[in-house]
Amino acid sequence: MQSPIQTYLEDLHNSLVSLTDGELASYIPELTKVNPDWFGISLVTMDGLAYNVGDADQLFTIQSVSKPFVYATALADRGVELVSSKIGVEPSGDAFNSISLDPQSGAPLNPMINAGAIATTSLLAGTDPQAQWQRLSSSMSTFVGRDLEIDDSVYHSESATGFRNRAIAWMLKNFGIIDGDPMAALENYFRQCSFEVSCQDLAFMAATLANGGVHPVTGRRALPAEHVERVLSVMATCGMYNYAGSWLFEVGMPAKSGVGGGIIAVLPGRFGIGIFSPKLDAKGNSARGIEVCKRLSKDFSLHVFGRSGHPSMALGRVYSGADAPSRRQPSSEMRSYLTEHARRIKYLCLHGYLAVDGVEYIIRRMLQMASDTHSYILDLHQVDGISDCAARLLNEARRGFGHDGIAVVFTRIHARKSITQALRRVAARGDRGYLSFEDNDLAVEWCENRLFGEAAIPPITFASLANFLLFKGMPLDLTEQVEAATTRQAFSTGQEIVTAGQAGDGRMYFIESGQVSVLVPLADGAHHRITSLSAGMNFGEMVLLGQTNRTATVCADTEVQCRILGSHQLEEITATSPMIKIILLENLARDMANSLRRATQWISALA
Ligand code: GLU
Repeated sequence: MQSPIQTYLEDLHNSLVSLTDGELASYIPELTKVNPDWFGISLVTMDGLAYNVGDADQLFTIQSVSKPFVYATALADRGVELVSSKIGVEPSGDAFNSISLDPQSGAPLNPMINAGAIATTSLLAGTDPQAQWQRLSSSMSTFVGRDLEIDDSVYHSESATGFRNRAIAWMLKNFGIIDGDPMAALENYFRQCSFEVSCQDLAFMAATLANGGVHPVTGRRALPAEHVERVLSVMATCGMYNYAGSWLFEVGMPAKSGVGGGIIAVLPGRFGIGIFSPKLDAKGNSARGIEVCKRLSKDFSLHVFGRSGHPSMALGRVYSGADAPSRRQPSSEMRSYLTEHARRIKYLCLHGYLAVDGVEYIIRRMLQMASDTHSYILDLHQVDGISDCAARLLNEARRGFGHDGIAVVFTRIHARKSITQALRRVAARGDRGYLSFEDNDLAVEWCENRLFGEAAIPPITFASLANFLLFKGMPLDLTEQVEAATTRQAFSTGQEIVTAGQAGDGRMYFIESGQVSVLVPLADGAHHRITSLSAGMNFGEMVLLGQTNRTATVCADTEVQCRILGSHQLEEITATSPMIKIILLENLARDMANSLRRATQWISALA
């Protein structure tokens, strides 16, 4: 099954292919040579997985998307104080190539406009422009996670025509913002704009910022953590040319775009996004790129002011049906099948508020386990809420897994209106809907039944007492003696067979066919279901220990056929054949020891 995140991105890509608005940047002549139809989207998670769609590997020149990373490097090299004395952090509201300098100090208003970026490049560590270039390219490579090359023809094309930038660089020199040779700094700036990257590279650069400055795959720190917020703040307010205000208002992600058609967007602690489509709108931003970000922000509720938290927090414990089997006592055939296969039932405990990133993480873990899974039980007991988009993805994953023969069921959401409503709201037309259970035991039992269905283990009927565990090892003639003393009774679905608290009538029940539930009454009048019993199992056997009061209620879940043995009849037979009682008590003790072992297993699985 394909991840619904991938499907979503593919759909988004498909829906925007027809958007052909905008023009290629032409003031750098070489940029007009790119294919205007290229379109790639890449989304990278905090643990380094890249979801790629379209031309995600196509190389293009990074242009202004380099600016925040060079600014980051300058902050790391020269400290905030010095960098801030030379370059401001105020949005200019003007175009990227405007000469927006502070009237008094001559400092560029921010590092995202060309004036600020050229000044930034001149500040990097290094005794001369060559050393500064080494520093710049190695820092960029750390952000990307691979060595970068520059596109020489774009570099030369810009260097040969960049008269306005040359004027800006001389202005900066005039105001003392650039110390050394402004033309050498400018050439480094032109080269930095010509780095060849793919939109996947951009997504990794964004993910490195989102991940506190550490590349999610290489694990290398590209930037001291203390500067990450500064870089993101400048991106948030100045990253999208003179569209920055509307961008923050509508999309709400720190971002940067470049005239090569690239855009990065950073979701701190959550995702890095890279988009490439070279046709630009009137403000110089990739037209499709803007649209992708708008849709992603809306569909996945990604506005930075929305919420935050690490996606892996959404998933708590993961354990299997082997750790916590159902409390039903299975027949020996079922038990031996479960020994082999119960691990294919997986419980996932989800936590907190489920948003798209948490759900992406959960679905990915499910995909990883899928080859060894027959059913998933998603325990939503500790979930406070779920966004519609997260519910939609979970629902799609449920359907996709279902398609592949893997059931996904929910538990403990019955009283959780906000969750059930969200799940219902997003249910697709024609979808039969999700299956949910009041508790994990009911769910795991359902999943175990699915396993038995897979193995075609038939619902067994037990016509002779010899098949019952309680009679194991008893010579046949003795078993027949007991059998002769039994009566048979049928119960209809829902019928209460024994009632908790009632004085026992000494009857023991042996289920020949059907299923019953054993319920313990709760203070509020409800019942807690402790186990279910099916053919081949018995209840009421505590009378063997002289217990008279019924401690639990037993209800027929289906049509049930029982063989009943009264204690008087048993006493009569055992008077002449005491062996019968010894064997029954031995088997009972063994059975109780097994139950105890299972209970211990449950408790340790839950601890
Ligand atoms: N190299 C380009 C310039 O300085 C970058 C512009 C941009 O991407 O915004 O004009």
